[in-house]
Amino acid sequence: MEKAQAYIRIQELREVLREANRQYYVENSPTLSDYEFDMLLKELEALEKEYPEFMSPDSPTQHVGSDIKKEFEQFPHRYPMLSLGNTYDISEVQAFADRATKGIGNSFTYSCELKFDGTAICLTYRNGRLFRALTRGDGTVGDDVTRNVRHISNIPQQLSVPQGFTPTAQRPHPWPDEFEIRGEIYMPWSAFDRLNEERLKDEEQPFANPRNAASGSLKLIDSRQVANRGLECTLYHMLGENLPFTTHDQALKAASDWGLPVSDKRRICRSIEEIEEFINHWDTERKNLPYATDGIVIKVNELPYQEELGYTSKFPRWAVAYKFKAEQALTKLISIDYQVGRTGAVTPVANLEPVQLSGTIVKRASLHNADQMEQLDIHIGDYVYVEKGGEIIPKITGVELSQRGADVTLPHFPAFCPDCGTALIKDEEEAKSFCPNQTGCPTQIKGRLVHFLSRKAMNVIAGDATVDQLFNKALVWNVADFYDLTKELLLTLEGWKERSAERFLKSLQESRKVGFDRVLFALGIRYVGETTARSVARHFGNIDAIMNATKEELLNVDDVGEVIAESIFEFFSEEANRDIVSRLKEAGLRFEADAAPEQLSAELEGKTIVISGNFSISRDEMKALIAANGGKNSGSISGKTSFLLAGEKAGPEKLKKAEALGVSIISEEEFRQMIGSAAEQEHMTEPVDGEQLSLF
Ligand SMILES: [Zn+2]
Repeated sequence: MEKAQAYIRIQELREVLREANRQYYVENSPTLSDYEFDMLLKELEALEKEYPEFMSPDSPTQHVGSDIKKEFEQFPHRYPMLSLGNTYDISEVQAFADRATKGIGNSFTYSCELKFDGTAICLTYRNGRLFRALTRGDGTVGDDVTRNVRHISNIPQQLSVPQGFTPTAQRPHPWPDEFEIRGEIYMPWSAFDRLNEERLKDEEQPFANPRNAASGSLKLIDSRQVANRGLECTLYHMLGENLPFTTHDQALKAASDWGLPVSDKRRICRSIEEIEEFINHWDTERKNLPYATDGIVIKVNELPYQEELGYTSKFPRWAVAYKFKAEQALTKLISIDYQVGRTGAVTPVANLEPVQLSGTIVKRASLHNADQMEQLDIHIGDYVYVEKGGEIIPKITGVELSQRGADVTLPHFPAFCPDCGTALIKDEEEAKSFCPNQTGCPTQIKGRLVHFLSRKAMNVIAGDATVDQLFNKALVWNVADFYDLTKELLLTLEGWKERSAERFLKSLQESRKVGFDRVLFALGIRYVGETTARSVARHFGNIDAIMNATKEELLNVDDVGEVIAESIFEFFSEEANRDIVSRLKEAGLRFEADAAPEQLSAELEGKTIVISGNFSISRDEMKALIAANGGKNSGSISGKTSFLLAGEKAGPEKLKKAEALGVSIISEEEFRQMIGSAAEQEHMTEPVDGEQLSLF
């Protein structure tokens, strides 16, 4: 890879991983499967190793993700709470063993344990009583979830004397006055299924996996609710000053004696062969466990050796996690449906013989596109492997050819749209098939109608069900038809009363005030998003100029490339679309841009400003505010930058660069003082936030 390409890829990977981390830890809603995440992280690590000049301390390779939520008080960890280095490859376990042997000789043993798929917890016991429970947080500081942890039934509030050892002195090991013990809070499959069932009933998004369910439940604000979630705990690592143990195994046995939950699915191994045997055993057996596990943890058992091996900045050198590949299920492919989406893309969806996978029954799975079907050489009647990724709908990852019967048939990706019968065209770049009948294909028409009314477009209050009815009754066929609707026509809709009809008409009336850029966005021209619509509207000033523009003229607009220019040009070449525009004009929609925004002040005259992060208003509004006060916006920091306006979560790269170049960094508050901004400047363009409401 060329250096420049490597740089671009590194930036790309960091961005993807950061976002995935945020989704995972903060939203509890993962976007990547663990496997995908780990593979991308490994790719990034390799690139950073090859090009150390691009290394950055805030790279996702340098720290664990953070799950800190603001609602909880935070405390520092007494000992940093690191995660484990992990691998999917047994040869790397061998390499770990080799490194350990090199460091400490070969007179040590390994403790092999199940890796529970939950969320990490650190419990502190003082004088035998549960004192505090902290989440991992960022590894240095964690959230105090003690109140919630007290509702987890197998975590003792008070340690107990084991049976048969009544007098204190006879205990195998008295508990230390203070110690920490770390482990995992997890949600057994049964509780997970019950929770997701309830959530579906309440029309809430189900949790993607028990781990996210556990971590989400642990962070509930109402701790009484935690008790109903069926969380459990398993503990695996004791820490403290002068603990009276020489091995990790002894410490866990003692913890178990004191009434703490410790898994008995452990084994002391003496060789890599024994470790492998343990791994292979549980890779199969884990499917019968009532809770999710995602691997095996291998630790050096002798505590003095652990100390000798020590830590890297991220991981202990005395432990490694071997992760199982995502759980798969094998089942029969019954048929394939081809679904048309709103943009006309046709997606194959597999109907499967119901099968149990990671605690749920799977009946449908995604096949992505025709290329993938071909690559898999999939046949109807085949036995296929299904895997759950981060998405709710699982995917087919392979075909078991040894089980292929004689009666299988080759599926035919349709040549014609299953919805309207038009010949499909294939977009080579996206490897997707599209129905080109944008003006006649029902699914696409309805999709465009819904888009037109949506909040960021015309902001008309109507649900998908309303659009369905209007379309099915042939009252609305294109977006211009909305403005011909009358109260009498609306009252013919099922369930509609005077009031709902009036509300709808009033909302349509309001939409006539929506600015030109949003009207242009609302037309639903392919590839023309909000930002592009704004640039195009500003550049040309009115709809006639856009409709008459050549492709070359369109290319002169900022952010408009070949694909977008082509798409806009084609859209307005269609007679039907020009008709719609002229009818919308007659209906009184705005097809001219506002005159140049009012100049609020000249406070920023001659200043070049770079913004980064989140503000009390949107970034576009912030840019407009800068322009309205005479300043110039710029995307990147240079010696000519007057200052960096940094909001919440400003990009660390930008902050660093500003510091390096001596560019001053100012906050939104300072900025507002600078321009003498009053509160009325705060809402310049965007409508007040509101949910898209259905009328029913
Ligand atoms: Zn179609």
